[in-house]
Amino acid sequence: MFITTVQNLKEKLGEKNIFLSDEEITNLEEVTKKYPLRISDYYFSLIEEKGDVIWNQCIPRIEELNSEFGNEDPLNEENEIPFLTHRYPDRCLLLISNTCAMYCRFCTRKRKVGEVVKNPTRKGIEKALNYIENHKEIRDVILSGGDPLLLSVETLERILIDLRKIEHIEMIRIGTRVPCTMPERITDKLCEMLKRHNKNPILYINTHFEHPKEITKESKKACEKLIDIGIPLGNQSIILKDVNNKPEIFKELNRKLLSIGVKPYYLYQPDLVKGTSHFIGNVKEGLDIIQGLRGHTSGMAVPHFVIDAPGGGGKIPILPNYTKLQKNGNVKMKNYEGKDFKYNFKN
Ligand code: SF4
Repeated sequence: MFITTVQNLKEKLGEKNIFLSDEEITNLEEVTKKYPLRISDYYFSLIEEKGDVIWNQCIPRIEELNSEFGNEDPLNEENEIPFLTHRYPDRCLLLISNTCAMYCRFCTRKRKVGEVVKNPTRKGIEKALNYIENHKEIRDVILSGGDPLLLSVETLERILIDLRKIEHIEMIRIGTRVPCTMPERITDKLCEMLKRHNKNPILYINTHFEHPKEITKESKKACEKLIDIGIPLGNQSIILKDVNNKPEIFKELNRKLLSIGVKPYYLYQPDLVKGTSHFIGNVKEGLDIIQGLRGHTSGMAVPHFVIDAPGGGGKIPILPNYTKLQKNGNVKMKNYEGKDFKYNFKN
């Protein structure tokens, strides 16, 4: 079901007629001592050749050990309440799993994923739930990890039941990469459970597709099953070198996402995570992607481009320069073709 060892990876690649050199094997062994390897059989099946966009997301690279750059916890998520980050006034992040269907090589929580010993305990989650109960200003809880949908259906249901008892919670969001990396995990049993809990408060799911090649008949079916039980779906993507850092890739990805019922929601400049520098380009790439989308395709295909400010400053929107505010409150504007316009309400 999962590839987790270098030996197993080597054998599976051999079945695809892809072969690793001795140096590549040594490098893989070195990297996986620090950052574990895990690839679902499904996601692995999408690899066509060495170094393709699927490969680059799931196969460890020696650059991960270049430790000069970045921070283990760039967003300052670790704090006195384990598994919980309360950064914004009315919402909080609850990390309920350290396990994923695949350990993405660029993950912001690279420091945690795969560390089974640090998996949230029931006691730890209860403490976090108590905190939420005592903070009546929290109306939106985001369940993340790792991947919440890697928990057993029963464990996830217990957390949802507990959360639904807290009266001031208005919505629960689940962040998951499962529809993309292990679509068969969206089982009838899971959907029936989610459906039972998709009211008071309502559930949302934000998934995580990075490239049009990930939109397959299997991932489409997984999304359809979630839509069928009434859960709105959004998508978060990260701009990644050698994967998707071009406007035309996002145009295709976001159109395909909309066609399967998933609204592109956030586009992230990568966090400055230790072990991921080889994925990170400059911010201009993101601005170019947004300019390549805005006006050139449906507005619904244009996500919010944000930087999650290093050190825990929260998400900050980054916008191409379309407007110039005048002293009288009016604006001079450029449209998507670069043509000038004015909006003058008062002179
Ligand atoms: S699925 Fe999400 S949490 Fe898990 S490794 Fe990938 S990016 Fe990180």
